[in-house]
Amino acid sequence: MLSNSLIELDREHWIHPVASYRGHEKAGVRVLRSAKGATITDASGKQLIDGFAGLWCVNAGYGHDSIVEAAANQMRELAYATGYFGLGSEPAIRLAAELAERSPGDLNRVYFTLGGSDAIDSTVRFIRYYQQARGKPQKDQFISIEQGYHGSSTVGAGLTALPVFHAGFGVPYDWQHKIPSHYTYRNPAGSTPDAVIAASLAALRAKVEAVGGAERVAAFYCEPIQGSGGVLVPPPGWVKAMRELCRELDILFVADEVITGFGRTGPLFACEDEDIVPDLMTVAKGLTSGYVPMGAVLMSQKVYAVIADGAGAAAVGHGYTYSAHPVSAAVGLEVLRLYDNGLLDNGRKAGARLMAGLASLGDHPLVGEVRGRGMLAAVELVTDKARKTPLPATSAPAQRIFDRAWDKGLVIRAFGNGVLGYAPPLCCTDSEIDAIVERTRATLDETL
Ligand code: PLP
Repeated sequence: MLSNSLIELDREHWIHPVASYRGHEKAGVRVLRSAKGATITDASGKQLIDGFAGLWCVNAGYGHDSIVEAAANQMRELAYATGYFGLGSEPAIRLAAELAERSPGDLNRVYFTLGGSDAIDSTVRFIRYYQQARGKPQKDQFISIEQGYHGSSTVGAGLTALPVFHAGFGVPYDWQHKIPSHYTYRNPAGSTPDAVIAASLAALRAKVEAVGGAERVAAFYCEPIQGSGGVLVPPPGWVKAMRELCRELDILFVADEVITGFGRTGPLFACEDEDIVPDLMTVAKGLTSGYVPMGAVLMSQKVYAVIADGAGAAAVGHGYTYSAHPVSAAVGLEVLRLYDNGLLDNGRKAGARLMAGLASLGDHPLVGEVRGRGMLAAVELVTDKARKTPLPATSAPAQRIFDRAWDKGLVIRAFGNGVLGYAPPLCCTDSEIDAIVERTRATLDETL
């Protein structure tokens, strides 16, 4: 009864993110009631394993008392503090320092945001400022990658390269350019690591030339593993090769670790997998494990110094009311403590089990490819394995698969192009990982 009235209220009032508004009104909302660990309970009392950690974010799992305590204590102590006017709070200062210590190389400067989209927005503003401050204002072109996702803000949606974020919104802008993805499963350049890396390097060089040469290009953005594009894992060496080319061309390299950060692929940051240091890095999601909103831009000393010296005594005019919110920072500190105290280790162990389990689905007639790293994975479905024929590019089959998995007690991401996405909480037990795999197989059997 309660659920029915909620469905009505939702239908009439809540505009949901990235949804067919009319389709959602028809289908009605699924109300979630509570969650603990990797298990969520819906309003009907049905229990499901959350194979997607909310939206790739609840890395620590739900209902963690120490995180709740950290938030509650901070709210009692100091519910809000701005970073404006030379003020600050202890948790924000400590979190900035902890992030600087744990991040690669000289990414020692931290700008706090509310999530990933405004972290990306902030990088665009900082990069423009940086290029102007060093006397190169003509370096104002930005390059990102097809199938990449960098949020859905007015500017970030144009760096994003998924059509649904563009259609009807007037983006991308003419200073935002794309090169093809490294997507190996159907790469026209071939699927060997060398071929994919060579194709991406050539594509970046060609794009730089096409937009007027390196003296016009400000920055290149990539995700160490493309998430929302369908968990597209570049071959080993790809990230490093692209980073090196950017250095050679004097183009800032931005690693968007909003999904891959905080243990999702194994180490704290996926950049560590390739031993690279980006010029800027964006993080969010796992930073607070989704308990409260927070993101950050991690900036190299070099970029920071140019901006700081360029501004001199003037203020750098970029800020949000909720930047470095002390409650979010307190949560971030506690979540970092959990990563250190077993969560990263458990994620690595569970990730190996997840990848092995999903790989065992490779014999299924619907499974074209299984890919991923750690607790970030995808199963790409095909209607014909030999021809790699994709599922019809409409949302209907994906929604059916999502619904069937739900019936079996599993939440996964079913992308419109027939890719199933996995990003379970890092706290998953062996039996939860096994259940994710078994329920996926049962879902696929029913889909045949
Ligand atoms: N960048 C990447 C790689 C993401 O996956 C996302 C969100 O999924 C964002 C940026 C945007 O983050 P948010 O949704 O917190 O604004």
